[in-house]
Amino acid sequence: MRLVIIGNGVAGVTTARLVAERDPSAEITIYSDEPYPYYARPRLIELLAGRVPPESMAFYPEEWYQKRGLQVVLGRRVVQLKPQTREIILDDGQGTAYDQLVLATGAHSWVPPISGADVEGVYTLRSMRDALALRERASGGGRAVVLGGGLLGLDTAMALSAHHIGVMVVEVTPRLLPRQLDAEGAAVLQRAIEEQGVEVLTGDTCALIARRDGKVRLGLKSSRILETDVAVISAGVRPNLELAQGAGLACNNGLLVNERLLTSAPDVYAVGDVAEFNGRVWGIIPAALAQAQVAAAQITGNGDVIYKDIVPSTTLKVTGIDLTSMGEVNPKGDGFHELRHTDAAAGVYKKLVIRGGRVVGAIVLGDRSNVRAISQLIERKIDVSAHMGALLHEGFSLASLI
Ligand SMILES: Cc1cc2nc3c(=O)[nH]c(=O)nc-3n(C[C@H](O)[C@H](O)[C@H](O)COP(=O)(O)OP(=O)(O)OC[C@H]3O[C@@H](n4cnc5c(N)ncnc54)[C@H](O)[C@@H]3O)c2cc1C
Repeated sequence: MRLVIIGNGVAGVTTARLVAERDPSAEITIYSDEPYPYYARPRLIELLAGRVPPESMAFYPEEWYQKRGLQVVLGRRVVQLKPQTREIILDDGQGTAYDQLVLATGAHSWVPPISGADVEGVYTLRSMRDALALRERASGGGRAVVLGGGLLGLDTAMALSAHHIGVMVVEVTPRLLPRQLDAEGAAVLQRAIEEQGVEVLTGDTCALIARRDGKVRLGLKSSRILETDVAVISAGVRPNLELAQGAGLACNNGLLVNERLLTSAPDVYAVGDVAEFNGRVWGIIPAALAQAQVAAAQITGNGDVIYKDIVPSTTLKVTGIDLTSMGEVNPKGDGFHELRHTDAAAGVYKKLVIRGGRVVGAIVLGDRSNVRAISQLIERKIDVSAHMGALLHEGFSLASLI
């Protein structure tokens, strides 16, 4: 069986690893247009902050691939997919045949249509190349503005501030992380970030960018002008759909897959940030890992393993602030309880959302001690109704309920 995987991010490489484990006779080739062996994208934050050198980014040593018989072709772009003849075409015109194909092409940073967004000094952060360029620029000093106060924007801002430059985050919504936090949690987080020297401006956005006298000038909607040396646009990602669309595969916001991770073309699977299941493109690693498990099972003949959506869980990394947000954090409708514990001075905020006696969502800010236990309570749908009053009390062991 010839398996071709396009993309060597976490989704592609995990699928390759699992297929190789289950079917050692499979001929597996992974193509990547990046020149680097697989690295974990979250570590780009540490790279940007100057905490790890580029040489230590490779996730696996070369022998790891050899041991599993995985062929990895780096620095080559796949430019066409021909599902009728089961072939892919590389950037030099060369064709490769497949029996089964996995599209793990990931996503790219989305740049909103702001005039001047392409001037020198404006960056995005998705790849090793982006991180290295941005790190080099930031190490020259000056000021940086991050446009977008989502998880990635905040992590980017804190990583840039490690270079001892002035950093500001501009977020269009009235509070930080509206998807991962509620208003109270956002206020605690904002205070903790500001205490670390990063300015936060909410409720404003950039309307115009220009370069003048060696500086980047950001014209905000509020008419305020920010002058900076570096601007980073962190406005979300969009799936890389060119190949799939070019081949006529069914796409919406992402490449549509069913519960077997199959696209609309026979024996063509999609996993990770490119895939859309049940109207959702997750864009996070837990989804990529869960999808890779299912695709690998399907490819190796285990048709019973099907994909069920994940409970989203996200954390901040180098901010020096522990934040985890899981599941339903801003519940809608009736029939739920919210339990809260706030210690703003200590930068601690915890919230559990309980529905039908089960924890369905949680925010844990400034304390990592119970994150694992809460995640298990959510995943295993454990009935906590007998302990409702005590769940967030100091000293109560959530782990004891599992
Ligand atoms: C800085 C940063 C921090 C992050 N932190 C977190 C985090 O803490 N937690 C979390 O869950 N998620 C995080 N994410 C998101 C996470 O990295 C993605 O969800 C994950 O990388 C998706 O994996 P993927 O394999 O689907 O795609 P990608 O990692 O995007 O890999 C796709 C690969 O395919 C290549 N490719 C695309 N098209 C072609 C083609 N035609 N030919 C050849 N190669 C091609 C791309 O260049 C890329 O190398 C972070 C992302 C970034 C950028």
